[in-house]
Amino acid sequence: MQVRSSGGEHFLDTEGVSGSNPLAPTTQDPILILGFQQERFEIGQARNQKELMEIIYRDGRTGELTDYEQRLEVLRHSTSHLMALAVADLFPEVHLGIGPPTSEGFFYDFERAEPFAAGDLARIEEKMAEYARQNLEYRPSLTPIDEAVEMFSKMGEGLKVELIQERADQTLSIYRLGKFVDFCMGPHLRNTSQIGPFKLLSVAGAYWKGDEKREQMQRIYGTAFFTQQELDAYLQRLEESRRRDHRKLGRELDLFSVQDHAAPGLIFWHPKGARVRAIIEDFLRREHERRGYQYVVIPHIAKGDLWRTSGHYDYYRQNMYTFQVEDEEYVLKPMNCPGHILIYKSTMHSYRDLPIRYAEFGTVYRYERSGTLHGMLRVRGFTQDDAHIFCTPEQVYRQVVEVMDLAEFVLKTFGFEKYRVDLSVRDPRRPQDYAGTAEEWEFAESNLMRALSERQWEYHRIEGEAVFYGPKIDIKLVDAIGREWQASTIQFDFTLPRRFNITYIGPDSKEHTVYMIHRALLGSMERFFGVLIEHYAGAFPIWLAPVQVVLIPISEKHHEYANHIHTLLADAGIRTEMDRRNEKMGYKIREAQLQKIPFMLVMGDKEVQTGTVSVRTRSGGDVGPRKIEDLVRSVQHLDAARALNLSI
Ligand SMILES: [Zn+2]
Ligand SMILES: [Zn+2]
Repeated sequence: MQVRSSGGEHFLDTEGVSGSNPLAPTTQDPILILGFQQERFEIGQARNQKELMEIIYRDGRTGELTDYEQRLEVLRHSTSHLMALAVADLFPEVHLGIGPPTSEGFFYDFERAEPFAAGDLARIEEKMAEYARQNLEYRPSLTPIDEAVEMFSKMGEGLKVELIQERADQTLSIYRLGKFVDFCMGPHLRNTSQIGPFKLLSVAGAYWKGDEKREQMQRIYGTAFFTQQELDAYLQRLEESRRRDHRKLGRELDLFSVQDHAAPGLIFWHPKGARVRAIIEDFLRREHERRGYQYVVIPHIAKGDLWRTSGHYDYYRQNMYTFQVEDEEYVLKPMNCPGHILIYKSTMHSYRDLPIRYAEFGTVYRYERSGTLHGMLRVRGFTQDDAHIFCTPEQVYRQVVEVMDLAEFVLKTFGFEKYRVDLSVRDPRRPQDYAGTAEEWEFAESNLMRALSERQWEYHRIEGEAVFYGPKIDIKLVDAIGREWQASTIQFDFTLPRRFNITYIGPDSKEHTVYMIHRALLGSMERFFGVLIEHYAGAFPIWLAPVQVVLIPISEKHHEYANHIHTLLADAGIRTEMDRRNEKMGYKIREAQLQKIPFMLVMGDKEVQTGTVSVRTRSGGDVGPRKIEDLVRSVQHLDAARALNLSI
């Protein structure tokens, strides 16, 4: 863990934060939530054995690193010190926060009354390059803690003093770089000649220690690599991610909004977004009912006692919204499970009734700190495509396989061909940390493994990653530009059936505890929709497109013909809009392309005379004239087939 240390390692240590998880929530997040870790591993493995990095530890010993990940972390951490040196030089009024490496690069938090301007980043970069050329050494030293406190107090670095005073050690390790001093566990590069290409990326607000009540810091993000080629590839991916940013596209395509003044972290679905959502829900509902699921609807609020029985009140309270109704405490549901369990429990069940599979588009509310909210990806209220399977032990295997098949079918239908599967199992060395008996765990884990191998799914088995109530399979989908997103999950639960005492009558006429599996395929409508927007860069396949066809009459005199076509298409169930504005045809076509509408039907004198339309696609393809009946058939065919292309 030493390589993870930074200017504020005490805080990092106590939070157990790894680089991939910047600890302090930001007030806005201009960068991306997810990284490109997978790709970096691949680059790294290719380069791994070849290179050595000379480093210096805090006690002054020197050493060498070969592991790519570790070298990258030291490089970035060292670059963050270089950045702090440059910032302190250019802006002597700043106070220092912390500056760790992250999975994407590094950041450093500064306290400064005036916000950094856009041009400041370039100035800081120049200054960094200037210092890097001077071959400055990273010089460690060990200092008694009271001396360190005195030194940082004299420097006016109150936040550093606060961090130092939280430490129990007698000595503190300090690294100097030029006139910049930071307390830091190291290790660092030997000197700045080892610094590779770097780039400062953005500035965001962040709270000191992630606490909304503390100082507001300015966080400068940057990244660093060993070669220009790696940096360029990263920047290109970042650019592509920004182009696809669902918050930007959500606005441009009028799909959804987040209205911070009214409801931070909650999504307002606009007509076009709501239409896509309804299509997704219809598709899922039909598939689930076809496969034996039954849809239910449960209340959004329930008494505190229900959540005491479920255990959420004790273990999840900090994320729950609670309020009073007639002297009684109520909870806004953070989970759907207890509601589904109550429906199950409302009658007796024989083994012959099982499996029972209750599904719901279940909206839940969970408190998230305001600084962590991010568009549709991190929200305070969302709707899960949730379901709970109640079954006998004999049925477990079949149920797991069926959920896997359904998940695969659904994700592929949405155009996700690649995914990564994790099997999270218990840590056998700490049986006391888990609910349920050893036999139950053994049984559940072996069923999950058997299902995975029967379906020939490649997976990573992660020991100790299971939640306390049962083992699980997680499916992370890989989007068009290689980012991974958590989607489906299949989780056993050994606690809730006992807490609620839900049973079935077996063939022996005795009561048995039912097996319960939680599962969601998309995860949540909000998050999945955000991912879908980014995956397709807003250009949804035709079956999902909120508007499938736009009619573009060349002039006013073609409106009557266009109205007639509009009726034909609408009757055929094709989602159609007509651009009646008095604008040039070229302008209307460009607008429709920007709105990513799959097909544009242009109509002028020639089309009116021949009873045709001139068809163009959003990618700029000119398909040519089509008889209207042919076009209707083609679009209906693409829609029904849930095709991912627009070939007609
Ligand atoms: Zn450091
Ligand atoms: Zn559940």
